[in-house]
Amino acid sequence: MAATRHVLPRTPPWPPPSRTEPPVPFAVVAPPLPFLRAYPESLQQQVQGLITQQRLGAWLLARYPQAHGIRTDGALYNYVMALKNEFMRNADAVSKVAFDSKLHVVNNALGMHSTISRVQGGKLKSKREIKLAALFKDAPPEFLRMITVHELAHLRVRDHDRAFYQLCEYMVPTYHQLEFDVRVYLTHLELTGERLWAAPAA
Ligand SMILES: [Zn+2]
Repeated sequence: MAATRHVLPRTPPWPPPSRTEPPVPFAVVAPPLPFLRAYPESLQQQVQGLITQQRLGAWLLARYPQAHGIRTDGALYNYVMALKNEFMRNADAVSKVAFDSKLHVVNNALGMHSTISRVQGGKLKSKREIKLAALFKDAPPEFLRMITVHELAHLRVRDHDRAFYQLCEYMVPTYHQLEFDVRVYLTHLELTGERLWAAPAA
C-alpha cells in the first residue's frame, strides 16, 4: 500500500522562489507564520497585523460565515463523487472517502490519498482512498471544496507541480485564494486552538 500525505506543502510553488536572494542567517529567516511563509511579505504582514489586534478569527468568520454541514463519511463520499464525476470522470475510481481525526495539522498532513493494488482475475486492480483531516468536517464549504479538489487532483498528478495546480484551478478557479485562506485558518488554529466553525455539541 502506497500512502501519500503531502496535502499542503509548506512551500507551494507560487510565487516561484527567488534564486537571487542572498542567504540570510537562520534566526532571521525563521518564519513567524510557517503556513504562510511562501507568500509575499506584504500579505504576511497583513495577517500579522490581524493577529496583533486579535482579529484574525473575526476576519475569517466574516469571510466565511457558515459551515458546510456535511456530517457523515457517507455524505462526504457523495460530495466527493459529485465533484469527481463533474471534473475527473476518467480518473481512477475512488473506493472510500472519510474524515480522519488522526490526520493532524502539526504534521502538516491535512489529507491523504492512498492506492491499494492487488491482482484480481489476472489483472492489477487499484483502489484509491481519500481521507480528509477532521478539521475540514467543521469548516466552511469553500475549505472543504479546496481540500477535496486538492486530493482529486492527486488522482492524476502526484507532485505539487505546475500541472497539479492548473488542475486544481480548473476545478475551482479561486483555488489559490482558498488555499491561502485555509492556511490563514491553520495559522489561527496553531496560535489559539480555537475551531471557528465547530458544530455545537449534540
Ligand atoms: Zn498534495
